[in-house]
Amino acid sequence: MTVTVAPTRTVDRGFPTVFGRDLVRELPNFVHRPYLVVTMADLWPRLEHHFDGNLAGVHLVDSIEVTELDRQSAALPAFSAVIGLGGGRALDAAKFFAWRHDRPLFQVPTALTTNAAFGHRTALRHEGREVGLGWAIPEAVYVDFDLVRTAPPLLNRSGVGDVLCHHTATVDWKLAHDAGREDRRWPYDERLVAEAREQLDAVVECLDEIHEVSDTGIRALTAAHRWAGASFHEAGWNACHLDGVDHAFQDALEYQTGTHFLHGQVIGLGTYLGAVLQDNQPELVLDWLRRAGVDIRPEAMGIDWEAAGTAMQRLAWYVRHADLPYTIADSRPVTDDIVGGIRDRITATFGAWPDEGPAAPRGGFV
Ligand SMILES: [Zn+2]
Repeated sequence: MTVTVAPTRTVDRGFPTVFGRDLVRELPNFVHRPYLVVTMADLWPRLEHHFDGNLAGVHLVDSIEVTELDRQSAALPAFSAVIGLGGGRALDAAKFFAWRHDRPLFQVPTALTTNAAFGHRTALRHEGREVGLGWAIPEAVYVDFDLVRTAPPLLNRSGVGDVLCHHTATVDWKLAHDAGREDRRWPYDERLVAEAREQLDAVVECLDEIHEVSDTGIRALTAAHRWAGASFHEAGWNACHLDGVDHAFQDALEYQTGTHFLHGQVIGLGTYLGAVLQDNQPELVLDWLRRAGVDIRPEAMGIDWEAAGTAMQRLAWYVRHADLPYTIADSRPVTDDIVGGIRDRITATFGAWPDEGPAAPRGGFV
């Protein structure tokens, strides 16, 4: 006799999300009063005029250290709701205050850099490590097309990094499974892999629209970020189908250079490196990044090839030092030849960098 167990997992597409125009202007009409706005110093002067006398206060994010945020949280004025307005850091700090004060949260991403708006937990720093702390489900996430388009195009386009990396992550998960090195909490699950690939395909379909930052492109990228936030939670805080060697490379490069990078840009480089090591259609990955307009030359991130190549070659050491999940970085060393080949292909795709040296570091955008 065969017993068939019906699948019980329902696919939730994530937090309530509203697309539209002039959405910030409406917030004071329905958000619980008085409200706290959590945003960035460079954004506030442009958006301040939308808020009224029910503003309890504005918090300009200057730290994502847990100890510091706890201190700042205790000093906040009384408030009945939190509005997060900005990129990843502002949305994460808003989430943190909503959690600590148990208040309703309304999130307004001003760029599509990461999936921060769609995660239950915050990505903060504590004692030198990244921690996924807290819990907040926003009443809604408001995605204002015109507001998003005021961000520099690269910020929005780079949001594809967190979706394209499913390409390498899903292969890493299978490698870990085959090598007997998968985490016992998250055994390889083909259904999750298929879902991640479906999200990846949907975004690849829209790469030209994402490059244009059109309404269609904004909707497509947001949908994939929203799915990832929900899937991470539903799969038991499992990111094996979402990110792998691509994100490990980011950590390794940040560790080595002491610099923060625009997330999707460095993830793009990590995904290409991972695809090369996995023999997993690296030329296709490079073409996706080119079409989306995400320049992954090290100089475009404010570093040089020396730094990028060194981080690649130290990746195998770093992933064990940081005790990261098993990926291709554990099974295939990055040789001089591999770095040389990567440099040649990236240069052939994006051109040689002009002689005046790397661009200014891109710290601050998360
Ligand atoms: Zn990411």
